[in-house]
Amino acid sequence: MERIERMYIDGQWVLSRAGETRNVINPADGSVIATVAEGTAEDVQLAVAAAKRAFYEDGWMVAPPVERARLMFALADALEQQTDEFAKLETLNNGKALREAQFDVSDAVACFRYYAGLATKPHGQTYDVADPMQTLVVREPIGVCGQIIPWNYPLLMAAWKLGPALAAGNTVIFKSSELTPLTAIKLFQLIEGVGYPKGVVNLVLGAGNTVGQEIAENYDIDKVAFTGGTNTGRSIMKAATGNIKNISLELGGKSPNIIFADADLEAAVDWTLFAIFINQGEVCSAGSRLLLEESIHDQFLERLVERTKKIKIGPGLEEGVEMGPLISETHMNRVLEYIELGKREGAKLLCGGHRILEGNLEKGYFVEPTIFANTSPDMRIVQEEIFGPVLVVQKFKDEKEAIALANNTIYGLAAGVFTQDGAKGLRVIKKLRAGITWINAYNPTYNEAPWGGYKQSGIGRELGTFGFEEYTEVKQININLEPGPISWFENR
Ligand code: NAD
Repeated sequence: MERIERMYIDGQWVLSRAGETRNVINPADGSVIATVAEGTAEDVQLAVAAAKRAFYEDGWMVAPPVERARLMFALADALEQQTDEFAKLETLNNGKALREAQFDVSDAVACFRYYAGLATKPHGQTYDVADPMQTLVVREPIGVCGQIIPWNYPLLMAAWKLGPALAAGNTVIFKSSELTPLTAIKLFQLIEGVGYPKGVVNLVLGAGNTVGQEIAENYDIDKVAFTGGTNTGRSIMKAATGNIKNISLELGGKSPNIIFADADLEAAVDWTLFAIFINQGEVCSAGSRLLLEESIHDQFLERLVERTKKIKIGPGLEEGVEMGPLISETHMNRVLEYIELGKREGAKLLCGGHRILEGNLEKGYFVEPTIFANTSPDMRIVQEEIFGPVLVVQKFKDEKEAIALANNTIYGLAAGVFTQDGAKGLRVIKKLRAGITWINAYNPTYNEAPWGGYKQSGIGRELGTFGFEEYTEVKQININLEPGPISWFENR
């Protein structure tokens, strides 16, 4: 009988109540690498009942921060000890180059350690209000939290979600992407192993329109935290209105990477490759619009194209591979359609533009790194998130035009500026409507700093103390230091 990977609900490894399963695919060759339980709304409801009981009746709500920290440090240690196994599994399931998956595992470990440390730090305030009162402001866990993540960073996004939620004392129903459940299943084996009480952390696998929808709608879930596409975010917002859920959304982007003529151009070319082509361009913050100052436009692109053509593409597990396949056949076709659209819209294809069908790559979902120039701001390839290895180039005359072009999309996730003029760099960044920005760099991300978008790139922030606060309610406690009657009414 085939092995079915199970979900983790109320401390038990279970099959879907409906008995459904789903095959998980290796995007490098289209083969089936696992069969997993496919949950439904009923499985979510069982997980919610467990999470509610764990929070209120079993006492996780008041578990000492030092205990929450201990468990999370243990989880981080256990994960670190299996870095290679997790990295290989992530590459097998997601496709990304192994060296990237290794970074993801160590970033996930660091994220858990950051939040384990934060659990025991002070989070409150006190106020000397009018005598004889004293006011305390305390942060408390929100309660039962639903968390839904995408497929591009399956393990790292799990750490970004579970870290702050559990450190702050919530219980969780977690859903990975149906395309990439494997490292989440392995992570939950560690969660069980380090001794989280049953019901505190639950894994429900399945599709967005069943499991995800139920998480967004369920009246006993107090908060939903979502990372994924902007349209899905919109639908989750609507579904969450029933019980006025607390909600945080990390959505899509079409982020500008602005290169001024006075930048160190060789370094800027190098960062530009990193900005758009890591993780096959399947990065929410990807610098997918390159804004070049007119005077360096041609020379910069010549060097960029030369280096883009040398990127080593192949199965992520192969030695020396720098870029892997896209996540699925469906997604690959979507990216290829955008490439065709770019041609029809009249943009100039400088390199790439095709699926790779050579040698051992023909069964996988490989797309060449692609660059379009001669674009205009209203083109759909300039406005819409492609979420693949496709860069569109825009030309600008001066600082003012660069800022106007940069801000001209519905998104506001990230932005980069390259210049050797420090004042100009900061001046421009301050005018960009984006939540994550870099000067003379693009993409490095730190657990200490808040991550999230302006405009239609989302609501709320992950990481840092901001990310922790997103998983707390704020309560004021007013204490009368001279207990006695107020004597407002005279009618004793
Ligand atoms: P997606 O929106 O299709 O799916 C994300 C998750 O939502 C999956 O688990 C999916 O099953 C679930 N889902 C789908 N429909 C749902 C519904 N109706 N109700 C509830 N859940 C539902 O996104 P994707 O294709 O997996 O990921 C790509 C997108 O994620 C891109 O737009 C990217 O920019 C975004 N992303 C954003 C960030 C960020 O931090 N801002 C990080 C990574 C990815």
